[in-house]
Amino acid sequence: MEWFIGIVFFIYGLIFGSFYNVVGLRVPINNFLSQRNSYCYTCKRKLTWIELIPVLSYVIQKGKCKGCGSSISIVYPVVELATGLLFTATYLFFGLSFQTIFGLLLVSMIVIVTVSDITYQKIPNKILLFFLPLFLIIKAFFLDTNWTSSIVGAALAFLLIGLIIYITKGGMGIGDLKFFSLFGLLFGWQLFLLLFLLSTLYGAVINGILLALGKVTRKTKVPFGPYIGASALTVLYFGRSILEWYLSSF
Ligand SMILES: [Zn+2]
Repeated sequence: MEWFIGIVFFIYGLIFGSFYNVVGLRVPINNFLSQRNSYCYTCKRKLTWIELIPVLSYVIQKGKCKGCGSSISIVYPVVELATGLLFTATYLFFGLSFQTIFGLLLVSMIVIVTVSDITYQKIPNKILLFFLPLFLIIKAFFLDTNWTSSIVGAALAFLLIGLIIYITKGGMGIGDLKFFSLFGLLFGWQLFLLLFLLSTLYGAVINGILLALGKVTRKTKVPFGPYIGASALTVLYFGRSILEWYLSSF
């Protein structure tokens, strides 16, 4: 039964991932409701249902628009697949529980923010403000929450990232500050510190690889949101275990 439910989560993840692509691409430019249908960004042709199947359409069309032949960004199928896998992972980690609902919301927000930050270098307030009350309701009513740790976490994130922005004069942005602070609130101060360390680690490793491959230069402004998101997911799945292991090693 478990594998069957896992597959259901995967399929829902693919479908939601396809929707999150659209949200991440349109919300930052206030174009979310003005255009109801999905369309090709190059030739503006409305897409038919056969072109809207997550991942499969991309593979069948070999990554090209059927109308104008312009290439479709690899970001779409990757986001869909990643959302599917993360939905399944969340279920496998937490079963059918409120922690899973919390996890699915977290995955959803991170996927949308990642699409937006990669495309526009923006972490939209609207997205964070949409998810914030949902997180708070679940934490308040259905999960075991240490609010002191949460408030300290948010304050710590705000001060630490604020200081980094001040010292580096724009190494990170206000969007990163809000994103980090939200995770401080959601995870509490100990896990926030872990999240912060992981994000700098991921950032250093991936940027190092991109530099070595010549994909970016030292002057390229690389969006930091995806690293924060990847760290938050690591903390969601492994945070408690890492913390316990760390504390037990003294
Ligand atoms: Zn086209």
